[in-house]
Amino acid sequence: MLDTAPRLFPGSFPAIARGHLSTLQVNLGYLCNQQCQHCHVDAGPRRTEIMGRETIGEVIRLLRTGLVETLDLTGGAPEMNPHFRELVQAARGQNLTVIDRCNLTILNEPGQEDLAGFLAGQQVQIVASLPCYLQENVDTQRGKGVYDGSIEGLHKLNALGYGKAGTGLELNLVYNPVGPYLPPDQQALENDYRQRLAQQGIAFTHLLTLANMPIKRFGSMLISTGQFDGYMDLLKTSHQDANLESVMCRSLVSVDWQGYVYDCDFNQMLDMPMRENGARLHLSQLDLEKLPGRAIAVADHCYGCTAGQGSSCGGALT
Ligand code: SF4
Ligand code: SF4
Repeated sequence: MLDTAPRLFPGSFPAIARGHLSTLQVNLGYLCNQQCQHCHVDAGPRRTEIMGRETIGEVIRLLRTGLVETLDLTGGAPEMNPHFRELVQAARGQNLTVIDRCNLTILNEPGQEDLAGFLAGQQVQIVASLPCYLQENVDTQRGKGVYDGSIEGLHKLNALGYGKAGTGLELNLVYNPVGPYLPPDQQALENDYRQRLAQQGIAFTHLLTLANMPIKRFGSMLISTGQFDGYMDLLKTSHQDANLESVMCRSLVSVDWQGYVYDCDFNQMLDMPMRENGARLHLSQLDLEKLPGRAIAVADHCYGCTAGQGSSCGGALT
């Protein structure tokens, strides 16, 4: 895989600082039942890095401080971590909002037959990738058979009340472009998705549009196809200063599978950790009350968050 990191530094992105913390986003490991073309964490079935019990205990300790409102679980497929359910129950026991970044096909894997019921029982919000409502585009980006598996997963969730008004069970879908271009208008695309998926009897709460980051597998593809510079030009010329106010790193801390902390998941993938006196900062040393005002580590990949309507793990910013 070709590394884009040397092309992103030192960069011209404006300096920004952290605000009020709301979310702890925890990467439970790179193990995944899929191996998608655009994956920014390079996850897959052969990855062995997963968060161990001791680090899960550190996460639970932070959740108990009362300084975090939302636990956002990601991976890989976070549900493949053997401690996933224990962590969810601990967070829900603190009355925190829990988000599971679910790839949908995991719901059909052997051994995960009761997963959808568990998530519904715990009132976990689901954020699920479905980069298109067309089979061909989904299978091209995420692998053959992923579209059918995703539709099957969505039917399971809908049957439990996910995505239906009045149940409180949020099911948000995520779109990201197949190629090196920016996502279209989020609301207009949500309307298209709703219409097309309703034809298959599928309901969902909202559609979140995300820009592709010029890092990891997607970045490597850009370099190998000669499209890297063109994509970076697009991100930079589409930059909107107004989006700087709401980029997700202002309110989120990202934790890797070993417990080291970052300003966001993308910085985690670029190995740009938060540092204290030059040393990388671990969850066990993190003082959440000292975070507001702290400088955020930025480089040119950050234009992926501020281009056009903006992009974050919660969708468009504007
Ligand atoms: S499902 Fe998600 S984590 Fe797994 S390979 Fe695809 S993009 Fe990566
Ligand atoms: S990539 Fe986005 S979220 Fe991460 S530090 Fe840069 S602007 Fe913030």
